Amino acid sequence: AAEVARPASTRIMTVANQKGGVGKTTTTVNIAAALAQKGLRVLVIDIDPQGNASTALGIDHHAEVPSIYDVVVDGDPLAKVIQACPDVANLWCAPATIDLAGAEIELVSLVARESRLKTAITAQLQSMADEERFDYILIDCPPSLGLLTVNAFVAATEVFIPIQCEYYALEGLSQLLNNIELIRKHLNPELAVSTILMTMYDARTRLSAQVAAEVREHFPNQVLKTRIPRSVRISEAPSFGQTVITYDPSSSGALSYLEAATELAAASS
Ligand code: ADP
Ligand code: MG
Repeated sequence: AAEVARPASTRIMTVANQKGGVGKTTTTVNIAAALAQKGLRVLVIDIDPQGNASTALGIDHHAEVPSIYDVVVDGDPLAKVIQACPDVANLWCAPATIDLAGAEIELVSLVARESRLKTAITAQLQSMADEERFDYILIDCPPSLGLLTVNAFVAATEVFIPIQCEYYALEGLSQLLNNIELIRKHLNPELAVSTILMTMYDARTRLSAQVAAEVREHFPNQVLKTRIPRSVRISEAPSFGQTVITYDPSSSGALSYLEAATELAAASS
């Protein structure tokens, strides 16, 4: 039985931040694994051509593997590309392969270019019986606002923003919020920033505490109380094709992601 309540309907969250290296992918895979470990059914959609989320989940994503490219460009059903994660029950991944790098250009001339991922997700969810449907779909985005990220924003109902606890954390955030506002206005009125997670927190520095306080001031209802510490175990895990949840379950990184996932799940009712 699930340790945490299943949401009434699938929560579709885009993990976004226009900065690279702030912990988007790390947060996507670790929150996903943590939710899955609590008994929820979770799908990670890797829509970043770098395929880092696929790697971290131990998912084969060499060039010939059916991937999210086939879904957004060729219109293949998601079911054709979804793989079960080898190490974590209840966790699946739609991988990204290198050909996704070209999709940004190819999408431009396709019909319904902004909503192709949404169409695929909707069809997938409609084909699933209630007991087997995903509770969470987490979409890992590239750091740019190209058509792939727009597809993720159109498919999602929630935006999940990881913020690195460093000096320039809030810079670029207003641009992200403006872009989300544009998407709301023109493409997806449902979209809202529901969750903000402070990552790479260093309890020894005053700066980390200052940044966290400032973010909390701006987003009192969205910031999770749990902060993710800077941790070597977190950064090592992907090279073993694992999340920190299975790589080192008792580490501070694993425990903080598990706690953040519990908070996140509690906000679904
Ligand atoms: P993004 O997807 O936003 O580009 P990543 O999740 O790939 O960012 O993280 C960037 C780098 O920081 C990676 O090398 C990752 O392993 C490392 N990293 C992420 N979170 C942490 C953390 N809490 N502690 C230490 N290293 C981290
Ligand atoms: Mg990434």
